Formats: sequence, C-alpha cells, structure tokens
Amino acid sequence: FCLLDMYTKSCKLGSGGFGNVYKLKHKLNKEIVAAKFVRVSEYLHKADTIQQILKEAQYLMTLDHENILKLQTAFLINQEIAIITEYIPGGELGKYLEKQDEPMTEIQACAVMHELVKAMVYVHSKKILHRDLKLENILLQDPKNPCSVKIIDFGLASLCSNNEYGMSGTLLYSPPELLSGKSKKSSNKADVWSLGIILYILLTKKFPFEGTTDAKTKHCICNQKLKFPKDLKISSELEDLIINMLEKDPRKRFNINQVGLHSWLEMNKEKIK
Ligand code: ADP
Ligand code: MG
Ligand code: MG
Repeated sequence: FCLLDMYTKSCKLGSGGFGNVYKLKHKLNKEIVAAKFVRVSEYLHKADTIQQILKEAQYLMTLDHENILKLQTAFLINQEIAIITEYIPGGELGKYLEKQDEPMTEIQACAVMHELVKAMVYVHSKKILHRDLKLENILLQDPKNPCSVKIIDFGLASLCSNNEYGMSGTLLYSPPELLSGKSKKSSNKADVWSLGIILYILLTKKFPFEGTTDAKTKHCICNQKLKFPKDLKISSELEDLIINMLEKDPRKRFNINQVGLHSWLEMNKEKIK
C-alpha cells in the first residue's frame, strides 16, 4: 500500500525522454493532480544522472510563484521518482498557438511575456536557470485565455554557480554561445534568449532562426541577422526589446531584469489588466 493508491489514474498528459506525466484524481477529496514519473532504475549506477533527476523536484520545492508549477510532494516508488504537482488544465501554449489562424496581438503577447518575465526574474533571483524554456513547457491556466500561463519542466534546470554543460534543451531555442562552443556553461542569458524566441513566435508563429537541417539551423542561429516578416506591424519598443533579447553576444544581451524594466512591458501594463 502506498501514497499512489490514494489516486486513480485518468489520462496520460505527456511523455518525454525520462518518463511520463499522468493526470490523477484523489480517491477521497477528488482533487486532480499531475504526476511525473521519472525512471531511475537505468541510472542507479550513475550518481550524477540521479542527482539531475532529483534536482527537478528540488528546484520546484524551492520555487513558490503564481506563474510556476507548484509541487505537492515527491517520492521514490518502484525505482521511479514520482513528482506530484498541481494539474494545469489549459494545455500547452504551443498547441494553443497552432490552433489559431493568426499570431497573437501585441497586447496579448505582452500579457504572456509579463507573466513569463515576472516568473523568470524570480527564478534567476534564486540563482536557478531553467535551461529548457519553450512553448511546450509553458501551460495555460485556462484553455480559453492564452494570457495566463505557468512555467513547467525544471528537468534540465541548474544552479547558476554550477558549470553545467551546454543547453541540451531544444536546438531551435538554444543561444549561439552554446552552439558555437564559445561558452561551455549555460548562463542566465541563455534563458533570456529562449524567451526572446518565444516572444518572436507569439507574434509571427515562426521561428526566427530555422533551417531545413540541424546543421543549417545552427548556422542560422549563430550567423544570420535577425529579421522580422515584412508584413509584421509592431511598435518600435517591441522591436527594440526583441533585438536586445536575441542579441548574439551574451555579454551585450539583456539580462532578465533589464527585460522586466523595458518600456514595452511598462507601456502595455495598463491595457492588460
Ligand atoms: P518532459 O521533461 O518529458 O518534457 P514535462 O514536465 O515537460 O516533461 O511534461 C510533458 C508534458 O506533459 C508537458 O509538455 C505538458 O503537456 C504535460 N504536463 C506536464 N505537467 C503538467 C501539469 N502539471 N498539468 C498539466 N499538464 C502537464
Ligand atoms: Mg517538457
Ligand atoms: Mg524536461
């Protein structure tokens, strides 16, 4: 008999490299939660992999923010780590965007960015890097309202002070310094780059740097100048923010606090309430 017996499994919510995510319902109070099961059996001989897997729960435990997935509990069961969190009902931001004919308006994108930036200012203030920010790892709180979001999946997260290698996240969201070999460590500037990619997609439904092969995509990210679609109408403030988030040189790129203080987020503050 174990804690999991208190829940009935309903559907699978997702699956990834390390494990699966299910929706569960508590048998007594009917509360719905999400459970991520990460297999450790194959890694029992690799202490550092186990450490990385445990970190996901550990970071969620540290973080308490309205726009970040809330942990309930985590435990080991049958050689798997079970991470029990709140259930977020609105689905992935990427799936929402796919279903829409048009990209977001500037005001909608601002509402989303406002929440993401607020959350990431908080994460970086705790000296934690997410390292895997992308549309699949941002969930809507409400399927009908794209403007209220939560960040999930701290499976690749690390501490700023650690010399964690590369991004190992998704190529299309990876910054040039991690692809060109200029920097072996990921930094808080890598998260800002990924957020810049997200902002660009919200407004265009396109990746700013994308080739037909991984090698070509890498080349675009590292060498191609940032371009906006000709028919895209955005304010000069927004253009300035994107340019500073997608600055190829991480030393010149904005940090998350500079993003948070940018005039574009400030000027739309009134309209999104
Ligand atoms: P992975 O590390 O394998 O990408 P994630 O933690 O990102 O695992 O979860 C995979 C998918 O499962 C997510 O993209 C999302 O669609 C779904 N999911 C994860 N956690 C939740 C949750 N708390 N509520 C609802 N859906 C979730
Ligand atoms: Mg994920
Ligand atoms: Mg992950």
